[in-house]
Amino acid sequence: VADARAEAARAYELDRAHVFHSWSAQAKLTPMTITASSGSYVWDGDGNRLLDFSSQLVNTNIGHQHPKVVAAIADQAAKLCTVAPQHANAARSEAARLIASHTPGELNRIFFTNGGADANEHAVRMARLHTGKYKVLSRYRSYHGGTETAINLTGDPRRWPNDHGNAGIVHFFGPFLYRSQFHAETQEQECERALEHLEQTIAFEGPSTIAAILLETIPGTAGIMVPPPGYLEGVRALCDKYGIMLIADEVMAGFGRAGTWFAIDPSGVVPDLLTFAKGVNSGYVPLGGVAIAPHVAASFDDVAYPGGLTYSGHPLATAAAVATIRAMEDEGIVENAERVGREILGPGLHELAGKHDVIGEVRGTGVFWAVELVTDRVTKEPLAPYGGTSEAKGRFVAESKKLGLLSFVNYNRTHVVPPCTVSDDEAREGLAILDEALSRI
Ligand code: PLP
Repeated sequence: VADARAEAARAYELDRAHVFHSWSAQAKLTPMTITASSGSYVWDGDGNRLLDFSSQLVNTNIGHQHPKVVAAIADQAAKLCTVAPQHANAARSEAARLIASHTPGELNRIFFTNGGADANEHAVRMARLHTGKYKVLSRYRSYHGGTETAINLTGDPRRWPNDHGNAGIVHFFGPFLYRSQFHAETQEQECERALEHLEQTIAFEGPSTIAAILLETIPGTAGIMVPPPGYLEGVRALCDKYGIMLIADEVMAGFGRAGTWFAIDPSGVVPDLLTFAKGVNSGYVPLGGVAIAPHVAASFDDVAYPGGLTYSGHPLATAAAVATIRAMEDEGIVENAERVGREILGPGLHELAGKHDVIGEVRGTGVFWAVELVTDRVTKEPLAPYGGTSEAKGRFVAESKKLGLLSFVNYNRTHVVPPCTVSDDEAREGLAILDEALSRI
């Protein structure tokens, strides 16, 4: 134990001396050291066990240290650690086949990337080349990644310092009844008006200039707004009407998170391109990609696709994806996510909303839930401002952690996003901690 503590203390010291962290003011950081993980739990540098209701960055869908995935990575490492992208390789081929077997429609060609941002970069590039048009519409209240095009597609404050008048990306509002942009009172009105707004945006931007509409099927970091029935179908219809590609960003919502293989599945909508990362192999080795419909892929049958990367379809990452997808199939992991959401997390969170005035709304599906924290239920004043934090929100995070819960928080929301493998008891344990932490604020 003493050795483990010393190692953790050294890791922290070196981190502060040498590691430059994402999205952070470096001098203000006090990162938590994580020394070990298993299933739904992680251990911090002081040896405390925490229930991981964040799945890290909402990526460990299969839980931590799944033995089949760990073994597959070790086996692949012993056999063949790396191979250039121009060669064929068993791990990559089988991962592509397995992914294609779960994507909607005929999206059966897979271009592998290192993560979600570059998947979106490539999907946009493919749509622009396929259509010969340039502009892309994406939503406010969205996150699409940290690289140049992806951060400009993003509809949250992280775009602002990176936005130098990026040509060719226009934002629009999606449906979000709780904070309706459209003065709607029902989901039906919200859906209808959000689609009218999108069609107006297309009309005023000029359909002949728009290559693609790119959207998170269920916006994740922005607040888990499950689309009202008919919205995705309506977006698909507008794309068809105006000759626009539909790109579904399933980086966070895909691979079981929403209680289905892909969040788009219940709508029956087939996008032209679908991007994925995170849950495809739970982030055990970095991997992302684009699933491509045959008509888009055909644009690059005789003309070279102008894009690529050294690690496209890296054997360790794709071997991890093969083992992850097989384990998800064999162990009913997507079904577990759906059931735990329906039987435990959904009812449990609604019960908490009945008890705590600080909860303005609870929404979600599967193991993908957002709890909207407000100072006033009538005005819906957020507990922390858009793009910011507050003392009360900080206290909530600290209390949760003291009680043994690692949560994913964004502005005034806490997200309940445990692994898809979470057990009933673990889900109940997390709800009980949330209950106590909310009582303390
Ligand atoms: N798209 C969505 C919906 C995401 O949630 C994220 C990451 O959180 C990304 C894209 C970017 O993925 P990555 O961080 O792997 O580049």
